[in-house]
Order: sequence, then C-alpha cells, then structure tokens
Amino acid sequence: MKLIENWFSERYSDNLQLSFRVRDQLLSVKTDFQRIDVFDTYDFGKLLSIDGTVQLTERDEFVYHEMITRMPYVYSKKVPESVLIIGGGDGGAAGELSNMGLSKVINVEIDGQVVEVCRKHFPELAASFDKKGVKLMVGDGIKYARETKEKFDMIIIDSTDPVGPAEGLFNDAFYNDVKRILSPGGVVVTQSGSPFYQPTAIGLAQKGMKPHFKNVRSYTAFIPTYPSGFWSFTMAADHDIQKPFRDLPSGKYFNMEIATSSFSLPEFVKTLIT
Ligand code: SAM
Repeated sequence: MKLIENWFSERYSDNLQLSFRVRDQLLSVKTDFQRIDVFDTYDFGKLLSIDGTVQLTERDEFVYHEMITRMPYVYSKKVPESVLIIGGGDGGAAGELSNMGLSKVINVEIDGQVVEVCRKHFPELAASFDKKGVKLMVGDGIKYARETKEKFDMIIIDSTDPVGPAEGLFNDAFYNDVKRILSPGGVVVTQSGSPFYQPTAIGLAQKGMKPHFKNVRSYTAFIPTYPSGFWSFTMAADHDIQKPFRDLPSGKYFNMEIATSSFSLPEFVKTLIT
C-alpha cells in the first residue's frame, strides 16, 4: 500500500497556504533570476511556479491571459497594431494578441529559462513565440523601456510580483519610460496582485502610473489559483477610459459585460488606491 501523497503548497503567510495534490514534480531549476518549478497537479493540470508562487496552471490560465490582453485592446483609443509585453515568458499573452491579429508583438522576458521550460511543458502557450509578427527578446524589460526608440500602441506588464527582478516594474522611473514609448491613444496595463493578500501591490501600480497618465483605473478578475482567487490589474492612459472603444468577441472569461463591470471595485479595494 502506498501511503505517501505529494503536495505543492504556495505559502501566503506563516499560517496560510494553498496546496495542490500533485502526481509528479516535472522540473525544478534555479536560474540566475529565480527558481522555476513545474508540477503535474490532479485538479489544475500542469502548474508553473516561480519562487514558490503560482504563475499559471493549464486549467485557469485563460482568465489571466484574456484579461491582461483584451481589456487594454478595447480601451485603446487607437486601434492597436503594435504591443510590447514585459515578462510573459510563458507565451500566453503573446498568443492571445497574435490570435487577435496584432501585427507586431515584442515580448521582453528577463529569464530565458522560463521560455525554455514553457516550450517543453506548456507548448500550446509558448508556441506563440514562433508565430508571425511575434518577436521574443531575452532581457530586462526595464532596460528595454529605457533604451528603445520604438513606440507601442499597448504596453502589457505581465510580470512576477513586485520583488526581485520585477520590483522596478512598479516604480516612477519605469513609468516615465513607459509614457515616452506609448503611442498617443494607447493604453498600458499591469497585473497588480491580490487586493486581499498583497494589499500594497495595487497601490504601488497606481502610484507608479498616476504622475504620468491622466486616467488610471484598476479592474479585477477571478483567478482560482492566485492568492484569494481575487486578482487585480491596473490600466492607464491619457484618454478617457470609462467606456470601451470597440467590441471583441467573448472568450472563455472575457465578454463585453465584464469589460465594463470588472472596474466595479469593493469598498476595501477603493481604500487601497486612494
Ligand atoms: N501570470 C503571472 C503572474 O502574475 O503570476 C506572470 C507570468 S510571467 C511567467 C512573469 C514573468 O515576468 C517571469 O517569467 C519573469 O521572469 C518575468 N520578469 C520579471 N521581471 C522582469 C523584468 N524586469 N523584465 C522582463 N521580465 C521580467
């Protein structure tokens, strides 16, 4: 009789964790930037974790990737043609954008090993890097934003949480560069953490964007495997972003009702961003 069960747990605090029963650990590697693990879970399919935090699972990645790509697309005043993704080494965001027909997608991921791991274990996501119009660059997105001479219609910050290599993706100097490289009528969006368990992240994102953009709004989505399941994104632009400029067909999570209702924030979240 086999008595041992294997679990992967993401620890939220000394007293709280979310645990997944796993069939197997498929990979564990320490890179120059972070530790990457892949697990084969019973309930969520394959799971990618970086430094012990869930980045994606096969079963619920669609929520995050639809909400970080389709929301800025419908709120861009200019019909987006070019996009810069910072982070996103799994290829999920690039894939969504490529399917939406964007002709130029530049994806700057700091850790080439995230890409390699995803090519092996999440090939349906990472295959987007081989699509026409998608260009993957391995490097620091902060440096890229500082040095590039190009402009983009949308900028998507699909990063890890604001610690380690992603810390500078939430600050004023970075958003100064984002502002310079964003086309008029364009939109920038970042993931901004769990309002319940990481209450400072959404405020940090708003604080980074507000000095540079006339309008900043946060929206939320239900992502079961992220801390508390209640996740936030923060969007900024110089034009009015109260109403979408165009429709997009429904995905598995996104639809045009959610495009407006996801900006309705509970009172405790409003207090984090004022
Ligand atoms: N969906 C995810 C989440 O919020 O949990 C984010 C997924 S994606 C794998 C995050 C990526 O951001 C990681 O692969 C990490 O290497 C990358 N990253 C962190 N800091 C970065 C930086 N300064 N420049 C470019 N990529 C960065």
